[in-house]
Amino acid sequence: MTRHVVVIGAGIVGAACALELLRDGHRVTIIEPGDPGGEQSASYGNGTLLNPSSVIPMSTPGIWKKVPGYLRDPLGPLAIRWTYLPKLLPWLRRFVTAGSTPEKLSAIGRALQPLLADAPARHRTLAEEAGVGDLITRQGVLFAYPDRAAFEAESLTWRVRRENGTKWLELDEDELRQREPTLSRNYKFAVLVEENGQCRDPGTYVAALIRHAVASGATLRRTRATGFRIANRHLRGVMTEDGEIAADNAVIAAGAYSKQLAAAAGDRVPLETERGYHVVISEPGIEPRYPVMPSDGKMAFAMTPAGLRIGGQVELAGLEAEPNWKRADVLLAFVRKVYPDIPADLPPERIKHWMGHRPSTPDGLPCLGPASGCGDIVHAFGHGHVGLTAGATTGKLVADLIAGRAASVDLTPYAARRFA
Ligand SMILES: Cc1cc2nc3c(=O)[nH]c(=O)nc-3n(C[C@H](O)[C@H](O)[C@H](O)COP(=O)(O)OP(=O)(O)OC[C@H]3O[C@@H](n4cnc5c(N)ncnc54)[C@H](O)[C@@H]3O)c2cc1C
Repeated sequence: MTRHVVVIGAGIVGAACALELLRDGHRVTIIEPGDPGGEQSASYGNGTLLNPSSVIPMSTPGIWKKVPGYLRDPLGPLAIRWTYLPKLLPWLRRFVTAGSTPEKLSAIGRALQPLLADAPARHRTLAEEAGVGDLITRQGVLFAYPDRAAFEAESLTWRVRRENGTKWLELDEDELRQREPTLSRNYKFAVLVEENGQCRDPGTYVAALIRHAVASGATLRRTRATGFRIANRHLRGVMTEDGEIAADNAVIAAGAYSKQLAAAAGDRVPLETERGYHVVISEPGIEPRYPVMPSDGKMAFAMTPAGLRIGGQVELAGLEAEPNWKRADVLLAFVRKVYPDIPADLPPERIKHWMGHRPSTPDGLPCLGPASGCGDIVHAFGHGHVGLTAGATTGKLVADLIAGRAASVDLTPYAARRFA
């Protein structure tokens, strides 16, 4: 039965949902106040990586010991703003316990795996349909270490990756030099995960997906969703700043802004923004072959059509606070540690900064499934650090739910009710 489905948000998740719903023959309306895939969305500025290997949540055993350091160092890879701490505490408590044992870490890894599996191929299919297939590549991603001992110190997380099907090549110093001569010689060991890929320009990709959805019959409404009209537990309409849109179903895909909408649909979810930053250096003068994640940097380096993008940082400071651009400078300062051939005196006009909001739950798993207050509303938010990768499969699972098809994946770990 075809239905009118309103998709709230035009980031990667909303875009993939819209396309899969159109495939099923539904009438689709997309609500988005900004430009689809625009700078307001996390989908614009992320690290560009499509890594099926990203099954490790931010919460890992022993992370609670690091919290005082997160509070002390405002420029560290993970920082908590003091002024935001009182609001953050309920989320933080859940966060430090979510992955506090190896068993919990493994369980989260198992739950993330089906959302990430085959991501480069799934995105490639969507991108080709939208006429931008060349944006998706699968060249592998390098995880660079100062030496093998540094890699072995992370044996728990690599074990969880292996349990979830990740295969890798271990590169010694010589092999690493041959494969990636631009990389600093301070990295003497690396792991190459060949199945990992990249979306070279995520903002352009999402904009193309939405254009394709509109060309295939979807309507794009430039407004903001504010709530729902629900009668007898059935959805009647989505409320927006410009009035009501009658709807049979709605999909909440508003990224970090989904909390109030989820509450209006009956689920109180501890959703936070893990604010992240990127820097793009145009014409960096190097041509790295692989995206790189240096173990000592907690950031991702990847070439994009606009230049070398360095994405990373986690700042827990809420949706409202002004960006702290010193954090972007931290990313920039690290560049020459990874690529020493990049000039030290880059002119400011060749450097662009961005800050955006990862939609993050404490356990690193999204909310994906019917809302508690009304089964016609489907949650599709909270993908944290892996939303670009998981977006394609999320779209398919949302379409399965709305069509009443048996989902190919057990959705239990993603139920919003797990936080009740
Ligand atoms: C620095 C950084 C690096 C990252 N690196 C990676 C990576 O390498 N790989 C990866 O897989 N993921 C990565 N991520 C995470 C990834 O970018 C996000 O998980 C993903 O983009 C979330 O997509 P989304 O569609 O849920 O949200 P968004 O992309 O944020 O889109 C939500 C949209 O909803 C709209 N919206 C908000 N409120 C409303 C409303 N009330 N009504 C209608 N619309 C609304 C917004 O305007 C926005 O356009 C990174 C994130 C950051 C910040």
